[in-house]
Amino acid sequence: MRRDDTIFATASAPGRAGVAVVRVSGPAARFAVQTVSRKAPPPPRRAALRALRSGAGEIFDRGLVLWFPAPDSYTGEDVAEFHIHGGRAVLAALIEALAAMPGLRAAGPGEFTRRGVENGKLDLTQAEAIADLVDAETEAQRRQALRQYDGALARCSDGWRTDLTKALAWAEAAIDFSDEELPEEVMADARQTAAVVKDALIAQLGDAHRGELVREGLFVAVVGAPNAGKSSLVNALAGRDVAIVSETAGTTRDVIEVRLNLGGYAVVLADTAGLRAAADHIEAEGVRRALQRAETADLVVLVKDGSAPDNALDYNDKLDSKTVLTVWNKADLPWPAAQQGLTLSLQTGDGLQTVVDAITAAARDKLEAGGEAPLLTRARHREALEEAAAALARAETQDAPELFAEDLRLAVRAIGRITGRVDVEDLLDVIFRDFCIGK
Ligand code: GDP
Ligand code: ZN
Repeated sequence: MRRDDTIFATASAPGRAGVAVVRVSGPAARFAVQTVSRKAPPPPRRAALRALRSGAGEIFDRGLVLWFPAPDSYTGEDVAEFHIHGGRAVLAALIEALAAMPGLRAAGPGEFTRRGVENGKLDLTQAEAIADLVDAETEAQRRQALRQYDGALARCSDGWRTDLTKALAWAEAAIDFSDEELPEEVMADARQTAAVVKDALIAQLGDAHRGELVREGLFVAVVGAPNAGKSSLVNALAGRDVAIVSETAGTTRDVIEVRLNLGGYAVVLADTAGLRAAADHIEAEGVRRALQRAETADLVVLVKDGSAPDNALDYNDKLDSKTVLTVWNKADLPWPAAQQGLTLSLQTGDGLQTVVDAITAAARDKLEAGGEAPLLTRARHREALEEAAAALARAETQDAPELFAEDLRLAVRAIGRITGRVDVEDLLDVIFRDFCIGK
């Protein structure tokens, strides 16, 4: 897809910095280099130090100019990069000069990557991976994003798609040619291939959403009786005061969430209202939400006050299927009896590292269970595979080759949506071209 408008944007973070990078992509990129540097673009992919001039001809900075001619660029178009000094006025001068040029306009969000996808430089999963790499806050997120960028998911979905398209071609052949011309195994092979792909999809779908959890963060609910020290624990883990710590029981009435990097994993920690028979409506709502959070959490940290009789509501049945980490707090106070589980004093900090390690270990368990890294990192991928698996399950029940083929076609389309390659007919053309049936 050729576009005739040229886009530009600051690729580096906003604000004052040592260096700022401005990218230009499109047919007028060459003109932009010529106008700003008063010279033709440098040799491809080689940085050239040049004086850069405003529209009025005044030199506003000296910086590096890089030239990536089409099609060997990120977008597949002519791309120019200006690496200039990252002062606000310098950047403003360059942006102003570019904006004044005919055919140039400021890029919208993700527009460079979008052009790259449209020009076949990268597929949708790689485009998503770039967004994830930019957003990655933890090591696990970075690792996962890079794996997807390297094509882990694209390769698998292309493989499934190709296999199914072959099976589809066999089925179409069975429809088009009479029995004498075509051996019976052709339909059997098609069914066998569809079954193998269906099993592969089901295996991926059984990944316990690990990829999505790495991206979005593991959800950890901190629950327990009022005054047990839930808010103090959340604050200690977050390293800053995010939750309200108070001596008045029932202060944290709603759910407060913090995003943390715990041992390389993204974790969303939720401080909840104390679980007790509530004094008023608002508190009761808080308790209801706390229980709801605990039920939807990937991990529950149950905080208990070792110095006070346990006055938490009985909600254990709701947490039956959950991983619950019990932490006995206030170890600095005299305790009536020895307690099972982790002991902690948020007053002195004793035991805090053990709690951090235990949460990290539980997170690792959830996110890396099953060994192999998951391929699916977004609900979008999961929905596509679910749709494809359902179509293949339906195909198995179809006796008529025509109906079998139609379900296969739906499965191929659904899988194609993952990478953005949905051209079933094109693929059929390619496969039919070397499909020898003696005709
Ligand atoms: P929450 O209601 O469970 O969120 O409990 P908070 O974090 O608000 O704490 C309730 C009270 O217990 C506050 O006054 C805290 O300072 C106090 N507290 C929290 N942890 C400890 C601890 O380890 N030792 C002692 N002695 N007091 C604590
Ligand atoms: Zn609280």
